[in-house]
Amino acid sequence: MDEPLLEIKDLSVSLKKRNTISVAVDCLSLNLYPSEILGLVGESGAGKSMTGSAILGLIESPLYISAGTITLHGQSIVEAPEHIRGSKISMIFQDPLVSLNPLKTIGEQLVKTIKTHFNISKAEALERGKRLLSDVGIDPERIDAYPHTFSGGMRQRVVIALALAPDPDLIIADEPTTALDVSVQAQILNLLKRLCIERGTSIILITHDMGVISETTDRVAVLYSGRLVEIGETSDVLQHPKHPYTAGLVASTPNIDPHSFHKKLFQIPGTMPDINDVPNGCAFHPRCEHASNICQTQKPPLFNARASCWLLETPGETL
Ligand code: SF4
Repeated sequence: MDEPLLEIKDLSVSLKKRNTISVAVDCLSLNLYPSEILGLVGESGAGKSMTGSAILGLIESPLYISAGTITLHGQSIVEAPEHIRGSKISMIFQDPLVSLNPLKTIGEQLVKTIKTHFNISKAEALERGKRLLSDVGIDPERIDAYPHTFSGGMRQRVVIALALAPDPDLIIADEPTTALDVSVQAQILNLLKRLCIERGTSIILITHDMGVISETTDRVAVLYSGRLVEIGETSDVLQHPKHPYTAGLVASTPNIDPHSFHKKLFQIPGTMPDINDVPNGCAFHPRCEHASNICQTQKPPLFNARASCWLLETPGETL
């Protein structure tokens, strides 16, 4: 395998309030490889967006990075100045309207972003902006239009063009299709996949949607309560989950197979714990039908570089 583009080692993000310290991301380690799409999945509060924010250097007080390292091309980016992270890493947020300035044309916004990162003339930046629009499937002639004249899907394409403007090595896409209807969602996901192949950009795709993970990603990391609970090739993880939480997420994903129409959708009992009240041992144990005594007291390590569950301690044990 190639050298990793991004390496996260034992990353912890903590929250300090008066005399108490809570842990929002707990000793997370994972790698991302060139041209790879890695999914981060889990319910709200799992630590997905917090991990993305840590990579981008957007962790703000009272949160802080309490341990671990994040390196891009082997160089630490935790302390790196904003412009270095900004030229190598871009972000796509859920709502394109939040990312776009309604008072500026998309051309003005593209030119400004391009000129921030490259020492070129305005005319050259405009040409580059038109090429980016074409790359994301927008008629370059619309470069002088304002964001409100675009549909939701087209606006998200503009945001992707802006994210590509610095020619980043890594794009972090945080629920990029959640606000879109399903047909537009498929177009945007296919666009991200195509750009990843054509430009060699790596993508971290943050989502709560197992369908999006299945359609788009090469590998998936499942997070629960700020901890990595399972990681692997997407098809293997979804077809043969090793962690009960992953199995629950897969089983609770709606299926449009006509034979499944009358089957009751599975529900994982309970809810994600508050970061101020994470259970001892395996944080998932109050919701897990397989929990045993050891689960209530000891945090499971990541067995076989795959899943963090005591069930895997016994060879041959499966869900
Ligand atoms: Fe369930 Fe125990 Fe595995 Fe946690 S470690 S997922 S409680 S079986």
